[in-house]
Amino acid sequence: MTNTTPAVAASIESLRAAVSGAVALPGEPGYELATPWNVAVPVRPHAVVEVESADDVAAAVRYAADHGLKVAVQRTGHGAVPLGDDVLLVHTGRLTECAIDPDARTARLGAGLVWQDVIDAATPHGLAPLAGSSTTVGVAGFLTGGGIGPLVRTYGLSSDYVRAFDIVTGNGEVLHVTPEEHAELFWGLRGGKATLGIVTAVEIELLPVTHFYGGALYFDGSDAAAVAHAWLDWCAELPEHSTTSIAFLQLPPLPQVPAPLAGRLTFAVRFASLADPAEAEALLGRLRAVATPILDGIGTLPFAAIAAVHADPVDPMPTHEYSALTNELTHEAIDALLSVAGPGSHSPQTVVEVRQLGGALAREPRHRSAFCHRDAQFAVMVAGVLAPPTAENVVGHARTIDRALAPWTTGRHLPNFAASADPATIARAYDDDTAHWLSALADEHDSNGVLRVGQVVRRDR
Ligand SMILES: Cc1cc2nc3c(=O)[nH]c(=O)nc-3n(C[C@H](O)[C@H](O)[C@H](O)COP(=O)(O)OP(=O)(O)OC[C@H]3O[C@@H](n4cnc5c(N)ncnc54)[C@H](O)[C@@H]3O)c2cc1C
Repeated sequence: MTNTTPAVAASIESLRAAVSGAVALPGEPGYELATPWNVAVPVRPHAVVEVESADDVAAAVRYAADHGLKVAVQRTGHGAVPLGDDVLLVHTGRLTECAIDPDARTARLGAGLVWQDVIDAATPHGLAPLAGSSTTVGVAGFLTGGGIGPLVRTYGLSSDYVRAFDIVTGNGEVLHVTPEEHAELFWGLRGGKATLGIVTAVEIELLPVTHFYGGALYFDGSDAAAVAHAWLDWCAELPEHSTTSIAFLQLPPLPQVPAPLAGRLTFAVRFASLADPAEAEALLGRLRAVATPILDGIGTLPFAAIAAVHADPVDPMPTHEYSALTNELTHEAIDALLSVAGPGSHSPQTVVEVRQLGGALAREPRHRSAFCHRDAQFAVMVAGVLAPPTAENVVGHARTIDRALAPWTTGRHLPNFAASADPATIARAYDDDTAHWLSALADEHDSNGVLRVGQVVRRDR
């Protein structure tokens, strides 16, 4: 049932005539695509345009400009921001091109793909994309935010492996963007999210990786203090061939959650290494000596199982997220973390994780980008479920974590873990110079401000 006015219904027909994809008003089939993975975020656009080509996106941008609307883009809604009825939502799910060039070790990917699609296509060629921890995240949303994954210390930032983007700007131009063509956009699209345009396809380098040694060791919550302190010392000596994180987990008793981890506090050490398995196993031995895991999920795994390292949730859920970056962590920082997330802390959060950064991430790549904070040492990410029984406490407790870690945090966060439409929150993902240039480029390529909505960097918002 739709309560759209006759005037809106008549006007939308001109958009329907201009695109080969589908257009759905509230109440019409297809409008449900607006519902994001993070179902706590209200996404209620004027209409959803399920685009089939860059020309469709350009038509949506022109229609929006003519009708006083904004244009936002969404694939999965893992990084959803609130959107209202002044917004036309471009949904990229039908942009599913996936062409692997095994000789060149590259892939051309439609913006509608999620990482598991790419992994499945690359695996038969003995190749892998530098995906993130969750392989159900969209490739375009991930790469425009930089992208850090379970191999980040070995290979660096995922967006450093982008060769080209196809985009539609806010001015409605369809552009092929490379380090040589529209170099300033190539700089800004890697880190600037949708500030400079809507990506319709991306070309990336693939890696000759078929297997890795890793997974996760899960400990009882009562061992968290001993393991976390040992982990910090261990991190200091960890070679670049290995990437690690820790997580305080309080997973619900659901069928997909292994019984030893359900309904209690557990503590995970995640690990992904490209070292010789014997060497990697010896490294982990130091942590195994601290306490006995209640679940041992470590082994030599095919790259296609990379999502097992973090075992992120797959099903949509209402979440509240908090994230931060830190300088060097000390044992006092681990104690502070334990006091808010460890045993007896009464933390309502489902996950409180700390990822070690550094290694290849810290080095400037061949082509500079709008991704800032390569010098951060650790990334903190907290997620709580906005549903009973934790809903009431999740947001306030995230602030408690923020205060507890304040002596070590940088005041900044990663664009991919900063989903927000609040300019102050968005600004924390960039240094001032980067924010200035992103905003100036956006003014040039989106002179009517059609894309001035959601998680974009614009002056005077
Ligand atoms: C469970 C979970 C695990 C995660 N793990 C990681 C991780 O390991 N590493 C990491 O870096 N991030 C991670 N993220 C964050 C994730 O990369 C971001 O939320 C990303 O924005 C998701 O992209 P999406 O397209 O799936 O989401 P959407 O919500 O559909 O899009 C989010 C935003 O991405 C931008 N965007 C999406 N599509 C396009 C496009 N076609 N053109 C231009 N901009 C676009 C827009 O700003 C959009 O608002 C994780 C998030 C979750 C919820």
